[in-house]
Order: sequence, then C-alpha cells, then structure tokens
Amino acid sequence: MRRQPGHVAVIGAGFAGLAAALRLARAGVRVTVLDALEGPGGKAALGFPEFSSGPTVVTMPQVFRALHARLNLPAPALEAARPTTTYHGDGRVFAPEALHVAGSLDSTLAQLSLAEGRRYAALLASSRRMYLDAQDTFLFAPPPGPARLARYALTRGRRAAPQVPLRRLVRSGSFMTPFWLRFATYLGADPYRAPAVLHNIAWVELGYGVWHLRGGLLELARTLHARATALGVRFEFGTHVTSLSTHGGQVLGAHTSQGAFAADAWVSAADRALTLSWLGKSEKPTPRGVSGFALQLRLSEDRGRSHHIYWPAEYAREWQDIRAGRLPRDPTLYLHLDGTRAFMLVNAPPDPGLTDDPREYGELLLARLQDRLRTSEGGPLPVQEWRALSPAEYARTAKAGALYGRAPHGLSGSLRPGWQLPHARNLAQVGGTVHPGGGVPLSILSGWNGAGQLLGLPFDDLDGRRVPQGTEVWPFGL
Ligand SMILES: Cc1cc2nc3c(=O)[nH]c(=O)nc-3n(C[C@H](O)[C@H](O)[C@H](O)COP(=O)(O)OP(=O)(O)OC[C@H]3O[C@@H](n4cnc5c(N)ncnc54)[C@H](O)[C@@H]3O)c2cc1C
Repeated sequence: MRRQPGHVAVIGAGFAGLAAALRLARAGVRVTVLDALEGPGGKAALGFPEFSSGPTVVTMPQVFRALHARLNLPAPALEAARPTTTYHGDGRVFAPEALHVAGSLDSTLAQLSLAEGRRYAALLASSRRMYLDAQDTFLFAPPPGPARLARYALTRGRRAAPQVPLRRLVRSGSFMTPFWLRFATYLGADPYRAPAVLHNIAWVELGYGVWHLRGGLLELARTLHARATALGVRFEFGTHVTSLSTHGGQVLGAHTSQGAFAADAWVSAADRALTLSWLGKSEKPTPRGVSGFALQLRLSEDRGRSHHIYWPAEYAREWQDIRAGRLPRDPTLYLHLDGTRAFMLVNAPPDPGLTDDPREYGELLLARLQDRLRTSEGGPLPVQEWRALSPAEYARTAKAGALYGRAPHGLSGSLRPGWQLPHARNLAQVGGTVHPGGGVPLSILSGWNGAGQLLGLPFDDLDGRRVPQGTEVWPFGL
C-alpha cells in the first residue's frame, strides 16, 4: 500500500467531493473540504434551500445502499417510483413500467401496438446488452488504460455499433423516437450528435428502475456532510479557489478567496475544465455538453409524487435551437412532483452569457406547463412561489453551465477523462465530468474511488454490478 498523505484537501462538496472526503476520513486521513457555495450538495444546492436544484431521481439504488452501509448510516429510504408518464405530440400517453419493478414487459407492451411493442423490446434488449458489455470497463472499474480499451474493443466493442449515430440506431418511425433519444441527454449529449453506445443509459432506467429517495437528494448531501463532520472532516464553505500552485509535478497549495491553503495531496471534485484552468492549462477545445434551465415551484397543496415528460411538437427543432445557442421556445418539459414541491427542467445551451431574462423565459415555460396540465388529471399546479435556475446559475458549479462537462459526441467523446491530470501527480480529478460519468451514483463512485486510488486502496464498486432482483426475468425470447 502507498504511504498515506497526512492532510488531503478536497475541492468541491458536491456528491463526488463528499464521497471522497468520507473515504479519506474513514481511512484516518485529515481532510479539509473547500467549496465556493455556502453549504454541501453542489448542483443540488442552488436555489430554494428546502429542495434540490438539480438531481431529482435516483438510479442504481444499490450504490446508495452500499454507501450507507460502508458509512454505518441507516439504510436510505428508497422506494420504486411510479413509471414516468410521457405525453406525446399526437395525444398519446405512454408510461413504461421498469422491468425490475413490473417483473415482466406485459404492462408496458399493453400500451403499444404489436409492431411498436416488438420495436420497444428490441431496443430495450440492445440497451441491456450495451450496458452489460460496458459495465466492467466503463462503469464499475478504474479509468481504463489502452490495454483494457483494446480488450473491450476486440471482444464487445462491435456490439456497441461504433460507427452508428444514436439517431440511426433508435429510429422507430413512430412517436417513440424522441423517447429513446432523450437518454443521451443524461450525459449532456445533443441526441442528434450522440454515438449509439449512449443507448446503454436507457437500460438503467427502463431495466433497473427509477427510485425515489424520501427527503430528496439535497437531504442526502446534508446527511453525508453530517457524517463527514462527525468523522472529523473540516468544511470551509464560501471559499472560492482561484488557482493551484505546483512544484515538480505536485500541487502544493490553493489560492482562494479566503487566503492560501496547503495540503499533501488533493482531490478536485469540481468540473475538470476548472481544475485545469487553476493549473494554468486548458481542455482540448471540445464543445461543452448541454446545460439546463429549471424552475423550482412551491405549491399550496400536496400533489403527490410522480414524474412526467411533455414532448414538444417537434423534438428536432428544440435541438436546432440549442445548437444555435438559443433557449428553445417549445422544449421538452420534464416535471417532478414531490408533495408541495415541483421541479421542472428543460434542456438549454451551455452558455451563461445568454441575454434572455431568466424570469421572462421562466414565465414562458410555466405558462406552457400549466397549459399542458389543464387537460390532465389534477389540473394546473397551484403555484405559490417559484424560482428560475438558468445556465448562468449552473455555471456557479460547472464551466459554461455544462452539467456534465464536455459533450459526449463521437465515439471517443463518450469516453470520459480519467482521474489523473498532467503535472499534478498528487491530485485526483473526480466527479461528474470525468470517469465513470455524470449522475449522482456515478459521481459518488468517482469520488469514492478517486480518493481510494490516492491511498492505494482497491476499487470498490459499491455493489454497482449487482443485478437487482426482478431483472433476471428478462424475456430473452423477444
Ligand atoms: C438540473 C439537473 C438535473 C439533474 N438530474 C439528475 C437526476 O435526476 N439524477 C441524477 O443522478 N443526476 C442528475 N443530475 C446530475 C447530478 O446532479 C450531477 O451529476 C452530480 O450532482 C454531480 O456531482 P459532482 O459532485 O460531480 O459535481 P457538483 O455537484 O457540480 O460539485 C462541484 C462542487 O465544486 C464546487 N466548486 C466549483 N468551482 C469552485 C471553486 N472555484 N472553488 C471552490 N469550489 C468550487 C461547486 O460549488 C460544487 O459544490 C442533474 C443535474 C442537474 C443540474
């Protein structure tokens, strides 16, 4: 085992930084966490203080359970969410039940014609195959080196349809094409520029299910923060890092709004592009991934717990707008209801310099949402107060507000950067912008294991490889 550093500084108190600090503290290392925000949670911690400004749904629940077990915390209050209801332009409503929850495809196929059902099952089968093929190299393992990449390419790589764009793979000639394209946005892709391999993301949701965490994900960040504090981790909130000083390939200290900090080793759980800029370097000029524009809504009555997607008249048009740097006038609306809290999210271009007034665009989105809700059960939302979160707001935690770092376009674009940065041997770069990727469970895996690598500890998959009960009923005959 490597010699343990005496003092490690972690930059960023989002999920990745919290996971890193906890793994280090458990190993007996002295840890200080620096974050520009006033509290823990990163992308979940902007806006209203009582609910998340970013992540709403839990996937890979086994990772959350394993993390709690490692930290001697009571098991998280997770329950399978009702299927996401999708409302299509032609008036169709479709709510696919996750295989893991339903135990079969029957309830999903009953909503489709025979031909649509066959196509659905075939696309679900290909997403499952891509996911299972990818997991040992790209998800539940350290960043792959050339040998492991070559092995993947030779054994399973061809099944990931390397030369095929996602839009061609999922073309259904029916109302379902946007349904399948949207999963690529979970990694920040423009779905019309994404490679076919991002189709594997669909399996995580449609196979293993979407889960709900009681209290929400911001509350989880607060629980992890409290556990870290109890283990002796020191948090310096309101501390904005401006640069890192290096000598002989090692980071010696950070310059911050609160003065200089020194440490023996470092974890940066902030956007990789920001870390590089603190080191005086820049990322290769690749396009940034997608940003978001969200509304947090306080409601005057409890509307229960559910997820909905309202498709626009023309999905392709929404992405033309985003590519041109415009906030789309008729975007896909994602709505998450949780008691008296509602969260609405649309895709947006990654440019905090947008001149649109966030309040004005927020009003347009709210009017559109209420319009769609007028004809559905429950009617429009009883909104008491709302807040807009624009790409400029998300840029407080990510370069240009790109939620997942660089755009995962083209085959090599979908390969996430590793945990090592040039000229910074004692620094591990972790979080949603690097391996294994975006989303809360993968950011946690990144932080937990990037910190583990600094200490020479073996990779811990936090039970990620465990196939949830229920999915083994997959109907192979289809
Ligand atoms: C609107 C939205 C919806 C989402 N929905 C989901 C979902 O439903 N499910 C899901 O799993 N994931 C979802 N995600 C993705 C998920 O939120 C992220 O992948 C995850 O939170 C990233 O965590 P992180 O720790 O890597 O980064 P961050 O949360 O970005 O943390 C980085 C931290 O670094 C700090 N930092 C940055 N610059 C500096 C500086 N100069 N000095 C000091 N500190 C600095 C920031 O303040 C921040 O706290 C969503 C994201 C958004 C924005």
